Amino acid sequence: MDEASVGLKPFDEPIYITRPLVPTLKQVTEKLKGVWQSKWLTNHGDLHRELEEKLQVVLKVRNVSVFNNGTTALLTALKALDLPQGSEVITTPFTFPATVHCIAWNGLKPVFCDIEPDTMTIDADKIEELVNKNTSAILGVHVYGLPCDVEKIQKVADSYNLKVIYDAAHAFTAEINGKGIGNYGDISMFSFHATKLFHTAEGGCLSYNDDQYIDKLYYLRNFGIKNEEEVVEIGINGKMNEIQAAIGLLNLDLIGEEKLKRKEIKSVYIKHLALLDGITLLEFPKNTTDSMGYFVVKIDQKEFGVSRNEIYDSLKQYNVFARKYFYPLCSEYEPYKQLKSSSTTNLPVANKIKDEVLCLPFYGGLGAVNAGKICKIIEYIKYRNKISTEVSV
Ligand SMILES: *Cc1c(COP(=O)(O)O)cnc(C)c1O
Repeated sequence: MDEASVGLKPFDEPIYITRPLVPTLKQVTEKLKGVWQSKWLTNHGDLHRELEEKLQVVLKVRNVSVFNNGTTALLTALKALDLPQGSEVITTPFTFPATVHCIAWNGLKPVFCDIEPDTMTIDADKIEELVNKNTSAILGVHVYGLPCDVEKIQKVADSYNLKVIYDAAHAFTAEINGKGIGNYGDISMFSFHATKLFHTAEGGCLSYNDDQYIDKLYYLRNFGIKNEEEVVEIGINGKMNEIQAAIGLLNLDLIGEEKLKRKEIKSVYIKHLALLDGITLLEFPKNTTDSMGYFVVKIDQKEFGVSRNEIYDSLKQYNVFARKYFYPLCSEYEPYKQLKSSSTTNLPVANKIKDEVLCLPFYGGLGAVNAGKICKIIEYIKYRNKISTEVSV
């Protein structure tokens, strides 16, 4: 059996994991007319305000503060919580570097907690044993939009008087029992980077229920400036400009249709891949909604017959560029690998899963036909290997 006999050939153009959602250029220029007329390009302009108001509705949360990117937003959230310098923040190693860097940049110490095998979010049952008198907060990540065990985390936080922050960068419009995911913990961060489902090219926001953070975050986001003569916080420049906000407002109108297209692709992936032994598909708990940001599979090398890395490499030969999110773990990065909590004995599940996960191309423009073809390629990679091992035996 060779490629030709199964009718497979590489894609003509590279297929990446995502492609940003974009409004038409005409829509963008139309939207920016007012901005050009007023010459108000940034500093809490009309579109900035409009986006914050719309996001409160879309995310079903009480307060939203938009930022120039998700990382600045998360840095600012941690700052706003006034955690004692040098105190410990319990977090997950299975995330994008920004999560952990935001802890360290605030002069806080990241402490890694292992993850839960099904949701791959921080294992709420293992948090308590990492708490000591220096612990000040828990930073969970709703990885791939799968919600953390928010109830259990809050329980631990309440018994030790800890703050809870969520990195909800992947979880735009995710819900738990119909409640917006940004309602949990003290503050949640959403990223609006171009690679995320909803984006403003670069951007992000914080959501929170406690009104005491409204002014605090407003000042922190804008150099601490309260008025022309008073600077009241050690602030940063985290403001979103009007061009970003314009793109965001236009994209808000597009995400409904984009999610429907992704839903179709997801069902194609599930239909084909569920038939292959050794592939585990991600399951969203019944009371939660998939925010349709990612399509992730776990590969069990023994059962599948081929490792995750081999699939990843072989897909490239077909012009398909999957991603190994999140390999390596944050606990393996140079600045963090020395930490006691980075040891593999502390993180057995994360260290296993990092070698199994693979994110497949997932965006509306991919189309159901191409998704089906990617499945065929994966099937072929498995089958080809089976044949060749049988022949060699
Ligand atoms: C994208 C991402 C961030 C960073 O957001 P930016 O808007 O790119 O700064 C943080 N955490 C996670 C989990 C992410 O995926």
